[in-house]
Amino acid sequence: MLLDESPELAAFRAEVRDFTRANLPADIARKGRLGLELGKDDYVRWQKLLRARGWFAAAWPVEAGGAGWDLRKQLVFIQETALNGAPMIIPYGVNMVGPVLQAFGTPEQQARHLPGILNSDVWWCQGYSEPNSGSDLASLKTTAVRDGDHYIVNGTKMWTTEAHWADWMHCLVRTDREAKPQRGISFLLIDMKTPGIDIRPIVTIDGQHHTNQVFLDDVRVPAENLVGGEGGGWSIAKFLLSNERVAIADTGPKMKLLAEIKEMFATVAPTGVTGTMLRQKIADAEIQLTTLCALEQEYVKIWAGGGSKEGPQASVLKIRGTEILQMLSEIALEIEGPLGAAHDPADLHLGEGANPSPAQRASLMAHHYLYGRCWSIFGGTNEIQRGLIARAVLAA
Ligand SMILES: Cc1cc2nc3c(=O)[nH]c(=O)nc-3n(C[C@H](O)[C@H](O)[C@H](O)COP(=O)(O)OP(=O)(O)OC[C@H]3O[C@@H](n4cnc5c(N)ncnc54)[C@H](O)[C@@H]3O)c2cc1C
Repeated sequence: MLLDESPELAAFRAEVRDFTRANLPADIARKGRLGLELGKDDYVRWQKLLRARGWFAAAWPVEAGGAGWDLRKQLVFIQETALNGAPMIIPYGVNMVGPVLQAFGTPEQQARHLPGILNSDVWWCQGYSEPNSGSDLASLKTTAVRDGDHYIVNGTKMWTTEAHWADWMHCLVRTDREAKPQRGISFLLIDMKTPGIDIRPIVTIDGQHHTNQVFLDDVRVPAENLVGGEGGGWSIAKFLLSNERVAIADTGPKMKLLAEIKEMFATVAPTGVTGTMLRQKIADAEIQLTTLCALEQEYVKIWAGGGSKEGPQASVLKIRGTEILQMLSEIALEIEGPLGAAHDPADLHLGEGANPSPAQRASLMAHHYLYGRCWSIFGGTNEIQRGLIARAVLAA
């Protein structure tokens, strides 16, 4: 599956694997193995263990308390922890607002916020999208109007993942309605306990509460929480996006899912034409995933060597990553047969010690299938990514 890995990276991969297997708490490992729901406490516990090992904040410089890894090591870490059932690192603090504050924040903002992010004591969410501003983010309407030493914020943010867990939100707001859309946008840090904030759950197709709509009604935000100056929000949003490239194909969880599918196939042992067709589909998916891993390794090598991240490579990885994820979860449901048609969200909370029945295992796979649909929407929809590729290729 993994091609052309240097001995140094292979040794690092083994180190990450050994650490994860030895240190991931058993209850979290069980949830990861069975695909059960993880709570905030699960993520925090794992992130704190990584911090103690010096492996949290993979991209932050060592002097700032991070691991200081280059992109190739970051990729190996993300893949290997996922393969061994560990929770993903929640990006909103450490991978999003943290690097923004390091690059654009004042010394006071850095001193106030970076330690809480590094220790996973302060939880962040990302308030960018709005009901009519998702793909066309520059049209966002939430306003921040200066009033003395505060901004008064009014508007609503949509799909704000984990806002119900968050202490703070990094938010794009409109500070100038006259300027060109992008130039009127600013980047504001908002304490979620401020009066006037109302967080309402959105339950997605998988029956779970991951995301929210956040209403902001005359929310008074200290002006010192503005990052990068008025009108600097769009540049910061672009900077933030370019930091997310290494995780965009998210191959680790797909490799894990493929291994699970092979196990399921062996257990269910479908015969005849169905068995042959499924065997072919699994082989095809494996070839496509191997190709994606090779592409990802190649692009990451180029980026790690200083190559431009501006090209269409990230869009290619995003599209292929989501297509392969959705293909794998469709195969899983085909193997499960009629049982896969039913999904009960309660199965995601299977009690400690209990093993899933065949119906519950199918239900957990159905959850994978349903949740997998949102991967082609968030982080820039696949249609938007295709548009970016077309523009790059046709302009060449
Ligand atoms: C589960 C989930 C979690 C999310 N978490 C967050 C979060 O934490 N914070 C946050 O800020 N946002 C979050 N989002 C929002 C996400 O970024 C947006 O949903 C996404 O950018 C799409 O915007 P939209 O939903 O407004 O759809 P629209 O932009 O209205 O798009 C609707 C459809 O039209 C297509 N389309 C739109 N414009 C074009 C075009 N120019 N060319 C071709 N096709 C086009 C789209 O591809 C899509 O199929 C989340 C979304 C989901 C589903």
